[in-house]
Amino acid sequence: MIEKLVRKNIRKLMPYKVNIYDDVVKLDANENNDLAHGFNEEIAEALLDLKINEYPDSDCWALRRQLADKLSLLPEELIIGAGSDQIISMIINAFVDPGDNILTFSPTFSMYRIGTELVGGNTYEYELDSQFKLDYDGFIKKVEEDKWKIIFLTNPNNPTGGIIPRHEIIRILDIANAIVVVDEAYYEFYGETVIDLIRKYPNLIVLRTLSKAYALAGARVGYGAGSKELLDILYRVKPPYNVTNLSQVAAKICLENQDMMMESVKKIILEREAMEKELGSIEGIKVYESHANFLLCRIERAKDLYEYLLERGVLIRCFGDQGPLANCIRITIGIADENQLVLGIIKEFMGIK
Ligand SMILES: *Cc1c(COP(=O)(O)O)cnc(C)c1O
Repeated sequence: MIEKLVRKNIRKLMPYKVNIYDDVVKLDANENNDLAHGFNEEIAEALLDLKINEYPDSDCWALRRQLADKLSLLPEELIIGAGSDQIISMIINAFVDPGDNILTFSPTFSMYRIGTELVGGNTYEYELDSQFKLDYDGFIKKVEEDKWKIIFLTNPNNPTGGIIPRHEIIRILDIANAIVVVDEAYYEFYGETVIDLIRKYPNLIVLRTLSKAYALAGARVGYGAGSKELLDILYRVKPPYNVTNLSQVAAKICLENQDMMMESVKKIILEREAMEKELGSIEGIKVYESHANFLLCRIERAKDLYEYLLERGVLIRCFGDQGPLANCIRITIGIADENQLVLGIIKEFMGIK
């Protein structure tokens, strides 16, 4: 009886599945293991002064002021979400009517499509080529079809690690009659941004998160930067009190420790480069160039390797055997010991040494 009451476009949706394993080396979700407990003491201390009996600052003014200073923006040009996932939902809720179209590429982050399905919109996924690169001219032709409410660009892309150069994003911005979302979840590992363009292009919104480089995934804090005109619309659909005061305090402290974060990012990038070389030199493994804190690899018997690693206490991401990501695995770059462990197990699996 209940199933019949469910909205039509929700009926075919499945719950977002996340496996939980105890005591594994967690290299499946692009978290920062290097700063696992990095800010805990400082956060714990700050929490002692917190009035948790009161509702949080609904619009996160203190956090927005702090970010605005860092980014040379106005607080009015920022919005905070319970993870950038929540901002993705807000953008879709604000702009997509049932039957409307959004444009993105594939493979990419799944939340754009899921959020769009939820409201009854259609997602067009422009396929990346066999090297997971975007054919810019082909994509521009798609943009020119001019039937899009939102265009989602992930830069660097997840799960491929690939990038879109700034001038190609500008080409898209110059012709798009749509909201253009540039998801910079891995910005700190890449270093290039288009956040400076939000005043020139009022239809641009740049998404960032504290979940990856800042090692704060558990607190769920992300932000969007865009024109005041665009953000005024998002504030209409933002749920009140969407970021807990615990999370606001934790975010403040992480942002105050930007130097520590940057040190950590440097280490992770060096580790990634070493892993890219090591894995790439193994016959039977193809490693894709990455500008983030993970590596996408193609390997025969990917599912077997995934299970082999799990039996030995290491969790990575496996993409199954269908579609363009068939036989692909994504390995988050952890701390040196963790990376050596994965590498050792993979070599063992491949029968090396
Ligand atoms: C991890 C990730 C996010 C989500 O981050 P949260 O702030 O934790 O919701 C958004 N976009 C991409 C591409 C990601 O990989």
